[in-house]
Amino acid sequence: MKLMFCLLALIVVSSAFGELYRGHQLFRIEINEEDDAHIMHKLGEANSEMLDFWTVTVPGRPMDVMVSSDFVDEFVNVLAKRKLSYEVIMTDVQDVIDKEAMESRKAREGRKKRDIMALEDFDYSIYHTYDEIAAPGEPGASDPKPVVYFEGGIHSREWVSPATVMYFTGKFLRRYMESDPEAVRTLGMFDLHIVPLLNCDGYNYTWTSNRLWRTSRKLNPDFGCIGTDLNRNFNAFWGGEGASPWPCSIIFRGFTDLDNVETQAIDNHFQKLKENNRVTKVFIDWHSYSQLILAPWSYDADIDPPIDTDKQIAAAGAMAKAMNETNNVPGGYIHGVGTDILYVSSGTSKDYGYASTPQATYSYTVELRDKGQFGFLLPANQIIPTGNESYYGVIGMLDWIYENDYN
Ligand SMILES: [Zn+2]
Repeated sequence: MKLMFCLLALIVVSSAFGELYRGHQLFRIEINEEDDAHIMHKLGEANSEMLDFWTVTVPGRPMDVMVSSDFVDEFVNVLAKRKLSYEVIMTDVQDVIDKEAMESRKAREGRKKRDIMALEDFDYSIYHTYDEIAAPGEPGASDPKPVVYFEGGIHSREWVSPATVMYFTGKFLRRYMESDPEAVRTLGMFDLHIVPLLNCDGYNYTWTSNRLWRTSRKLNPDFGCIGTDLNRNFNAFWGGEGASPWPCSIIFRGFTDLDNVETQAIDNHFQKLKENNRVTKVFIDWHSYSQLILAPWSYDADIDPPIDTDKQIAAAGAMAKAMNETNNVPGGYIHGVGTDILYVSSGTSKDYGYASTPQATYSYTVELRDKGQFGFLLPANQIIPTGNESYYGVIGMLDWIYENDYN
C-alpha cells in the first residue's frame, strides 16, 4: 500500500477568524423548472460577491445558497418575483462557524499537539490543521497491483473530506496490521494511492482566515483576486460550461488547464504511472456535501454517458448500498450520472479520472454528509460515522470490481 502525502507549498497566513459571515444566511430553494435553475445561475454570476452557491443542482433537487447580510432583502424579493419556495437553513452562518471553533478548542483543551497528531494514535474524531495532517508518513512498497486513487480536500472548506480519507486510510492500516480478513483482502487486490489533502494552502486558509474558502490560493495577477477552482482546472473538457473564465469567481477554471501546482502534481503522478504501464482502476475525488456518488459525465448533459456507464453505475451502487447499510444515514447516499443529479461543470476531476491521463474505468465524485443541515460546517462528532460508512463503501465497491471486472 502506498501513501502519498501532500507536499505542496504552504502559505502561512497570520490573521485570525473575523466576523466575515455575521448575518449571512443560508437559503434552501426549491428549483422545479430549468428556467429557474438558469435564472439562479445568472444571478450568481452577476452577484458573485453576495451569493455563494453551496450546492448547484438540476431541477427537482434543492439548491443551497449563502446570501450576504446586505443582500438578503433583495434576494428574497427575487425569489418572491419568481414565486420560488425557500427556507432559511441558517439564520446567521457566523454563529455556526463560531460554535464549530469553540467545540474544536474544547476537544483540544489540556492536550499536547504531539498527542493529537502522532501517527500511532492520531485522533480521527476531530478536525485537524494542515500541520497535523502533513506529518510525514513512509510510503509502502508492494508488487504492483491495479491502482485505486483517493483524493481529499480539493475544496478547502469541505473539512469532512480529508478527515474521512484519513480515517478510512488509518482503519485499513490498523486492520491490515491486525490481519483482519477484509482489510487483507482489499489491500491484496489493489494498491491504494492516497492524497488526504490536495488543496493545502486553501485548507490552511480556512483555519486561519476564512472558514468558507473554496479555491486554491494562487494569485491571479492583474485581477487583484486569489484562487482557482481546482475542480474546474483539470485537462478534461476544460473551459466548457459550468466553469468561469472570470478570475474572481469561486468556480474560476484557471487561465489554462492544469495551471495550478495541485492539479499539475496530480497529473505528473498519473503520467509517471502511465510511463510505468500501471493500470489505474479507480479514481475517487472525495467532497462534501449532499450524500451522492457521481459517475461521468459532468461536462455536458446532452451527450450519451460513457461506454462504461453500466459498470460504473453498478460499482457505485455497491458502494452506496454498503454505505447505507453501515449507518442508515438520514436521506441515504444516492448514486448516478453526474449531470443527471448536479448542474453541468467542466474541467472536473471525475471526467479527468476517466477520460484523461488516469483512464480509470471507475471514476467518481463522492459527496459526503450531510444533506444540508450543516453543509460544510459538519460537526466533528459526525467524522467517525462518515469515515466508517466510507470505509465499508470502499470495500463494497472494490469487492464488486474484483468480482466483475478485475482482469
Ligand atoms: Zn467540493
